[in-house]
Amino acid sequence: MKDSFEFNKELRKVTKEIPLKNVEIKDNFWSKYIRLAREIVIPYQWAAINDMIPDAEPSHAIKNFRIAAGLEKGEFHGMVFQDSDVSKWLEAVGYSLETNPDAELEKIADEVIEILEMAQQPDGYLNTYFTLKEPENRWNNLAECHELYCAGHFFEAAVAYYNATNKRKVLDIACRFADCIDNTFGSEDGKIRGYDGHEEVELALFKLYKVTGNNRYLNLSKYFIDERGVEPHFFDIEWEKRGKTEFWPNGEMRAWGKSYFQAHLPIRQQSSAEGHAVRAVYMCMAMADVAAETGDMELFQACKKLWENIVLKRMYITGGIGSTSIGESFTFDYDLPNDTVYAETCASIGLEFFAHRMLMIEPESKYADIMERALYNTIIGGMSQDGKGFFYVNPLEVKPEACEKNPTKHHVKPVRQKWFTCACCPPNITRTLTSLGKYIYTVNEETVYANLYIGGEASISVGNNEIRLVQETEYPWNGKVSIKVCTKKKTKFALGLRVPSWCPEAEVKVNNEFIDIEEMKINGYIMVDRVWEDCDKIELILKMPILRMKANPLVRADIGKVAIQRGPLVYCLEEVDNGPNLHEIYLSKESKFEECFEADLLGGVMIIKAEANRISNNSKWGEQLYSSEIKEEHQLVSIKFVPYYSWANRNAGEMMVWVREK
Ligand SMILES: [Zn+2]
Repeated sequence: MKDSFEFNKELRKVTKEIPLKNVEIKDNFWSKYIRLAREIVIPYQWAAINDMIPDAEPSHAIKNFRIAAGLEKGEFHGMVFQDSDVSKWLEAVGYSLETNPDAELEKIADEVIEILEMAQQPDGYLNTYFTLKEPENRWNNLAECHELYCAGHFFEAAVAYYNATNKRKVLDIACRFADCIDNTFGSEDGKIRGYDGHEEVELALFKLYKVTGNNRYLNLSKYFIDERGVEPHFFDIEWEKRGKTEFWPNGEMRAWGKSYFQAHLPIRQQSSAEGHAVRAVYMCMAMADVAAETGDMELFQACKKLWENIVLKRMYITGGIGSTSIGESFTFDYDLPNDTVYAETCASIGLEFFAHRMLMIEPESKYADIMERALYNTIIGGMSQDGKGFFYVNPLEVKPEACEKNPTKHHVKPVRQKWFTCACCPPNITRTLTSLGKYIYTVNEETVYANLYIGGEASISVGNNEIRLVQETEYPWNGKVSIKVCTKKKTKFALGLRVPSWCPEAEVKVNNEFIDIEEMKINGYIMVDRVWEDCDKIELILKMPILRMKANPLVRADIGKVAIQRGPLVYCLEEVDNGPNLHEIYLSKESKFEECFEADLLGGVMIIKAEANRISNNSKWGEQLYSSEIKEEHQLVSIKFVPYYSWANRNAGEMMVWVREK
């Protein structure tokens, strides 16, 4: 283990993200999604939080704020964390305005901020559930009531909106609330020694610290991180104190144990990712932020341990995490069932954000690989092609009848849903898409790392100069990427081009000449270090073969099976292309694959065709369920794979990622 001095030395090489406003995405693949987020999802979200969607359950989220602000009479309705829906909308609006100013949208957001300010209590407190429904029970049930979680989402919204508009009002509301929290929590006498059951405020306080420079928020974030899991246990203390009551009627949250909340041990002692997957990765995000900022090597090592446990033992090939619906949780190493899976969209988004933070601390391609895996598979798969339907759970194998009739699969839906009573995933997708520009490049004084291949332009400060990079690519359909450097004066810096783990061979041309990259690879990046002149052009050619991916044999669910991957995309079979009973299909070791772009299918996708075997003598079985005599017979069939993210955009039907191979 490196000591903290070395870590501090390394920290000088830590990279930063580029301000969102400096990146303009113009990409064949992603622009459409960003447009959907902006033109369909944000207005839809707005309609949802204002109860204007006829066939969806009313959200009441804006109404709760109006009532708390004294603008309307009425009662609180919705989940205890309903406020966070407004914050998530406002955060996405912030990112959207930062890259795409829109006076009308800004006016709507300003009006919401006015209402939030009026709903804020004199001491800075802001939560409509407790203000309207149980004012006497403020801060009485941190484990179960998401009070600080809601605060956190509001802080994230405030920072995003401030960054976009430079308007301080929302930031001032957030700071007053954060000060209220800081006055309430801590190890000093008279304060509550506690933390929230759902991590979020930790990473949000860090963002608030970054934008205000107020150390109080950094210290409070660190306090919440370090207090978690300490004995005597805060969740027991507060439970005793409030008379052993439960917020949720069935009491199951307590029954899931402290690991559900990642509070079974102090976090520096945790070596595996446990409990609720979204909470776990939100915790990791804050840990990474604080470690990088303070040079806390021990905390960084704790991040690495959790990172490795997740990506090496507990992650689906689609970048999904969370193997069970019970507690939306991790289970144990290599336990990755494909059909009872949870793999919540929010959890993959959290994983992407965690990966991004790790990448900024250590510029190694393995982090960007996971970012890409989550993004191109589970995250965009979470939304329908029209931007109007969303998955909460992202299965790798679906039979609609089983989802309906087998209670262990009720949580798995074969079609995307309109909106959810607990509407966490849709706005999380929106904020990811509207802030996508932040994930493409990271930079330090002498290096620009290209982490994701997404077309567009970025203005970047490097080597004491302002440069502009213009990226063009047809990624993820092919691996050709070109980046033009625009600069007023010659500038020396290294451009790091990520070679994804799926790519067996990469080539680079600078100004149309191939260069020898043998010695240039560092931590998964080809480092092209030179004095760049205006209009220099670099081309990266990534070989993108069709891969038969296998899982570690310890993954019981995938043994004897392969998943098809091409570039960053994992593929699947759907009933609409291949008929029912997909489990009867076998790939043989000799099966040939062929790729083919279908412009009219699913918004334009590269499909993969293959020859496979399919059981052909079902009729011989008659009424028998078991037999020792009937031999399996096969016929040769042609099958068609589509990208996983695009599934369930046609008819509801079966879907399968892992296919038998013999
Ligand atoms: Zn979610």
